Amino acid sequence: MPFVKDQKYTLPKTCRLHPDNDVYHEQEENMIELRPMQWQCGYCKKIFRNQGFLDLHFDNRHSEKLEPSSNSCLADACGALHCDYYNSLSSKPQIQATCKLAVVEKNRHSCEVLANTCFPADHSPAAQRLNHFFKRQFCDAHTCKKKLKIFPSGSGINRNKSLIYALTLFTVIVLAIFYAILYLIKRDTNLLRKGLRRASFRPPCKVQKE
Ligand SMILES: [Zn+2]
Repeated sequence: MPFVKDQKYTLPKTCRLHPDNDVYHEQEENMIELRPMQWQCGYCKKIFRNQGFLDLHFDNRHSEKLEPSSNSCLADACGALHCDYYNSLSSKPQIQATCKLAVVEKNRHSCEVLANTCFPADHSPAAQRLNHFFKRQFCDAHTCKKKLKIFPSGSGINRNKSLIYALTLFTVIVLAIFYAILYLIKRDTNLLRKGLRRASFRPPCKVQKE
């Protein structure tokens, strides 16, 4: 979590978000996104077209890498952490379900418990800042009021990644065309110069008079 690293804060072991409490932590560390639509297994370097295939590969080939001391995973905190929002980013837009107040209240409570166990406000000034940040970032959005924005400080997802790749590719192509044109112009200029030099050494042609 970048905001935790920024504050140089260490999560207590009692926090459900602590890496030791995530059964998939070690596998997650070995899930490498080389570029969009290309994922690599950090253990055997095999490459996959999508994250789902790599997940299956982990289950089939590297199940011994699961965190032995834990029997929970981050998905257990999905309700509190708005996993549905993340999922909606990668799937087709769906008709928004009716807001169920009981579910929202339950998720908000789980979110606040998470904030208070991971960042106990009386622990240190950094923990206090993170507690406040976490509640504003995640817990406040557990409401049926439509005006409240989810992740007001940003979701941490780089949605422009594909755009950056496309722009880089476009720049490379434009540069390649530019240098090809430059090469052709230079070659033609050299040929013309050689031709003119050769012509200057020849005796002038005699024009036949009628
Ligand atoms: Zn592998």
